Amino acid sequence: IEGQLRQAQKMEAVGQLTGGIAHDFNNLLAIVTGNLDLLLRRLRDKRGDVERFAENALEAANRGAVLTHRLLAFSRQQPLMPEPIDVNKLVGGMSDLIHRSLGEGIEIETVLAGGLWRTHADNNQLENALLNLAVNARDAMEDGGKLTIETANAHIDETYAAEHQMRMGQYVLVAVTDTGTGMTPGTIGRAFEPFFTTKEPGKGTGLGLSQVYGFVRQSGGHVKIYSEPNQGTTVKIYLPRFFGPAEANAALAAMESVPTG
Ligand code: ADP
Repeated sequence: IEGQLRQAQKMEAVGQLTGGIAHDFNNLLAIVTGNLDLLLRRLRDKRGDVERFAENALEAANRGAVLTHRLLAFSRQQPLMPEPIDVNKLVGGMSDLIHRSLGEGIEIETVLAGGLWRTHADNNQLENALLNLAVNARDAMEDGGKLTIETANAHIDETYAAEHQMRMGQYVLVAVTDTGTGMTPGTIGRAFEPFFTTKEPGKGTGLGLSQVYGFVRQSGGHVKIYSEPNQGTTVKIYLPRFFGPAEANAALAAMESVPTG
């Protein structure tokens, strides 16, 4: 019974989401068709204004595209667009956004590793994932606290990989730590499930961590939660190290500088 109930709730949430998007999308389509209609009439009697109508239509179409992208990302059919990423730079670029979304009462510290490797991932999705983690941290620290974002090069060897159910290899690590409520083992176990939430209705969708999980796994990485009730939470995202021309040159230069013989 409980499983059926949960399933019904999930279906309802999906229905609400798609209904909301369909509604917004219809409004945008009305703008597109309205402006195209005006455009065609003006073209027939060759009067001015035509540019503005075309611009309106284009703008609405672009907003429509953003909506469908969100929907696709939600249904996980969105193709990722991986590119080499300097995660330190990405975190730095998000600093304002993170400050604004956390509000007052939460101290923010970033600890960025020098000589950080690059990774290969979808830039927007990674930003989205980090924002999701920051928002979760904020929700866990209603009476204030501290958020720490750390980056590091991580070399996962065979033993560590076996212990932590990961693939061995070289990763770029981003860890987001809060001093909030923490999670029980039961919550940790279900946290990545779509629509699993412990938040009040209207506050949580239960989709944040499942999105993070989907993105990280599709990027060939791993995500781990370390949390204890009343102690706080650390979420670690491991993304595979990227090997490109710049990395190859650096490796060559390092080899050449080693005295031989
Ligand atoms: P939502 O935030 O909408 O509930 P998520 O998938 O992001 O959905 O998180 C699922 C659940 O995991 C949350 O409802 C909460 O119970 C728990 N959780 C996630 N992040 C944290 C955190 N930083 N501290 C405490 N609990 C968390």
